[in-house]
Amino acid sequence: MTPTLVELEHVSLTYGRGDAAVHAIRDVSGRVGERDSLAIVGPSGSGKSSLLHLIAGLEKPTSGTVRWPAWGGTPRMDPTVVGVMFQAPSLVPSLDVLENVALPLTLGGVPDADAFGRATAALEALHLASLVHALPEDLSGGQAQRVNLARVLAARPALLLADEPTGQLDRRTADEVLDVIIGSVIERGIAIVVSTHDERVAARFAGRWTVRDGAVTAVGEAVSA
Ligand code: ADP
Ligand code: MG
Repeated sequence: MTPTLVELEHVSLTYGRGDAAVHAIRDVSGRVGERDSLAIVGPSGSGKSSLLHLIAGLEKPTSGTVRWPAWGGTPRMDPTVVGVMFQAPSLVPSLDVLENVALPLTLGGVPDADAFGRATAALEALHLASLVHALPEDLSGGQAQRVNLARVLAARPALLLADEPTGQLDRRTADEVLDVIIGSVIERGIAIVVSTHDERVAARFAGRWTVRDGAVTAVGEAVSA
């Protein structure tokens, strides 16, 4: 077993209180190790995003514990530790592609020259060098999600969390973007946890947690779609 990056022990997450309470996650335990490749699979509303937010430290559990042993046990909302990709790329519209990719680094205090150098390298690695001066509005959906990936990778995280990263793309573009995501994390030794409702996407990852109504109902290896 590889060293543990994140571990969850009897984790539950309830949004709201009383009559309005939604039990989004119910008693989930599990771990994510270095270089793991994991899909969280379930229908819409089953709790996939909530689980990813707990793993990222973006939500605190209502009960149970989430620990990050590799980083001294505490949550680290730091792009150099955990990179997060959402379904929509959320690029800043007024900044060009290079500036968008460099932004988390400059915000994190990396000097401009270094930040732009790393951003350029990340874009080149994903064959996006010709787009460095494009604006987000000029990008196709697939290009925008690749730029989003470059932005996450430029920070060199140990763990990439991707919440339905291809959910807004047509099937062919989704397959191409998935190829790039999976190739990139393998090459860089990054662990990945992806959420998806799509069995074809899930089948590309080595492990799977099946989620139903906030509970992980099965943990195992990928099932071919
Ligand atoms: P999925 O990503 O699988 O679609 P979510 O984790 O987004 O599932 O949602 C799980 C459940 O929690 C759903 O019933 C959803 O409506 C509810 N939920 C998600 N976020 C919130 C929130 N911020 N406040 C209240 N309920 C929420
Ligand atoms: Mg979701």
